[in-house]
Amino acid sequence: MKALYSGARIFDGMGATLENHAVLIENERIQRIGPEKEFSDFDGNKIDIRGRTLLPGLIDCHVHLVYCAEADPGTKVTKLHPGQIVMRALTNAQKSLSGGTTSLRDLGGRDFLEFAVRDACNSGEQLGPTIRAAGKIICMTGGHGNQHGRIADGLNEVLKAVREQIHAGSDVIKLMATGGVMTSGVDPEDAHYTENELRVGVEEGHRFHRTCASHAQGSAGILNAVRAGMDSIEHGIFMTEECVELMLSQGTYLVPTLSALLNIINNADQGIPDYIVEKSLRIKERHRESVLMFHRAGGKIAMGTDAGTPFNLHGDNQKELKYMVELGIPEKDALISANSNAADLLGMPDRGRIMEGAYADILIVDGNPLEDISMVSDPVNHHMVLKNGTPVSKNLNP
Ligand SMILES: [Zn+2]
Repeated sequence: MKALYSGARIFDGMGATLENHAVLIENERIQRIGPEKEFSDFDGNKIDIRGRTLLPGLIDCHVHLVYCAEADPGTKVTKLHPGQIVMRALTNAQKSLSGGTTSLRDLGGRDFLEFAVRDACNSGEQLGPTIRAAGKIICMTGGHGNQHGRIADGLNEVLKAVREQIHAGSDVIKLMATGGVMTSGVDPEDAHYTENELRVGVEEGHRFHRTCASHAQGSAGILNAVRAGMDSIEHGIFMTEECVELMLSQGTYLVPTLSALLNIINNADQGIPDYIVEKSLRIKERHRESVLMFHRAGGKIAMGTDAGTPFNLHGDNQKELKYMVELGIPEKDALISANSNAADLLGMPDRGRIMEGAYADILIVDGNPLEDISMVSDPVNHHMVLKNGTPVSKNLNP
């Protein structure tokens, strides 16, 4: 069925804006884009969206579908049956879609249960975003994420762990380069895997056409991960000029996840374990400086939230854009990070862009988000979400 969305401002997800244009959608894809008057003889289903902005649906490059943003999500999930975990993960994926996130990347689940949700959403069996998923995170003995991750030490074990993920169906390999906030007894500042361990993992992932992402917070760990050839640095808390230069020269993406620390700090008295709050307060300011430094240097930022961590709700993914703008990143750059940049990192050239031939994953909002980011970051200003050309109910998960 054909549908024409007409009269809107179009933001193409790459940086360009078109006024008073129309977008023709047919068979899940954008067939044609042109000035409104070129479609004057169109007699099919015509939707007038004058005064609004049509842009690509958002892409979140860092979520955890099996976690539900409780005060201590890691402990909560250990008390659930596998079936319950799958149902919660599906609900979380659908909440994300309702909020305008039409694709997402899961960077660490539990026993591959989230793969069932990925496959059901990607095949169309269930309504949901397009999903890429890492499976188990790979970490060293005692390392960040060891409670639910695949523990592997030394070159041979890392190699085997990566092969296990690929065999299980992972789209992306997640390797832990440093300590982090959510694991007791480790420090974000400390490097974990050596550069050689990371390199073995990345080369094996790339050999089988998987992208590789690294949780990397301390400076030494960031450098190890980038030198090892990682495609994206997740969090990037303690960036130095050396880190920035190396990432720019190698084209490494930064996925900032500002939402993670902010939601912990803003809910510090809501039962979050003390060690999580203490570490978040310790590193918050340095994180903000790092993200800004990377942006000012011209680095490639891809939007990610770490949704599922404490009070970082699935379905609130779009708020990350507000946090970026509050930090000093222009609205246009924040939107690009959640559109074409994120699509490129996820290897989805036909999503995250309003262009002929692309999948019609679309967000239509009131006003102009290039001047007021709340048009995207606050769902009260959302008019419509389209997934593969089909309007999605706002009340998918009331
Ligand atoms: Zn994470």
